[in-house]
Amino acid sequence: MDEIATLEQQLVDRNPQPADNDNVLRPRLMGEFVGQRKVVENLQLFIQAARSRNEPLDHILFSGMPGLGKTTLAHLVAEEMGVPMHACSAPALEKPGDLVGILTRLEPGAVLFIDEIHRLPRVAEEFLYSAMEDFYLDVVLEPGVQSRTVRLSLPRFTLVGATTREGLLTAPFRARFGVLERLDPYPEVELAEIVRRSAMKLGVGIDAEGAALVAERSRGTPRVANRILRRLRDVADVKGDGNIDRAVAERGLGMLGIDGHGLTELDRRILRCIADHGAGPLGLKTIAVAVGEEEDTIEDTYEPHLIRQGLLKKTPRGRVITARGMDAIAA
Ligand code: ADP
Repeated sequence: MDEIATLEQQLVDRNPQPADNDNVLRPRLMGEFVGQRKVVENLQLFIQAARSRNEPLDHILFSGMPGLGKTTLAHLVAEEMGVPMHACSAPALEKPGDLVGILTRLEPGAVLFIDEIHRLPRVAEEFLYSAMEDFYLDVVLEPGVQSRTVRLSLPRFTLVGATTREGLLTAPFRARFGVLERLDPYPEVELAEIVRRSAMKLGVGIDAEGAALVAERSRGTPRVANRILRRLRDVADVKGDGNIDRAVAERGLGMLGIDGHGLTELDRRILRCIADHGAGPLGLKTIAVAVGEEEDTIEDTYEPHLIRQGLLKKTPRGRVITARGMDAIAA
């Protein structure tokens, strides 16, 4: 395979490259975090108030689509509070013991970040209630007839939860978060700013038109913008002079299969699948099987953009493709 063929293969690969680790491009200071002004202002105020009272911050729940900056904000909250942060993913906390281990080892004031918190097993969720509210845990020793309960007190900590599905959280759990912040997709000007900053960190030049084009095709999501930028850097290095201009951006986007609506091949397969079934309504399960993707991924990652673009509609009986959606796949 020659150099270009290898690059093309890499570009069409849907999986992120190992070097695409989000951490490298993650803002290190609140001031570097672009957009979401209201959320950032609220957080800064709550942080200032908590610091002035010398208290840990209230528990926070961030909701919004994948890649909008929930994890980044959790890191920044810990950074601004000057406390350590421990991160874990909810589905990994299968046994109550997993959570006990983490909670009992927290430093006073620490931030515990739990990603995908709507997928927390119910037992772990109930366990968290007393930990969040009164900072203790009742642990059952030797379950069975001889069972004993031991109360463990915990240091005061801040739980930061992130979810793509706030609606799946139970009401009592949700009520235990003092701060609820929703992140929305970013407007193109902000995404272009994120692209420019990321390009600087990656040491690649990008002009205003190149950045605007990446922003336009990034479905309102910084993670998507950063991922496209990295692939365009490859194109610029191999095919251009190392800088990303409109021509390089167009060429790279074409190789990635990202069209003028910001749609990827999988978006188009979803739309085609519905179109092939009489334009819908079609159930999510059927679509997932037909396109070979998880139902959750389709619902969290692909559908929000298709809906915002007016290409797909959700109805009580299933998904329906719109006339605009038909046009988008006609080309
Ligand atoms: P989430 O946790 O919501 O899935 P992340 O916090 O992991 O999203 O963000 C994904 C990537 O996007 C991060 O690496 C970060 O570099 C970038 N990012 C997200 N939001 C912003 C922002 N507001 N400003 C700059 N970069 C951002």
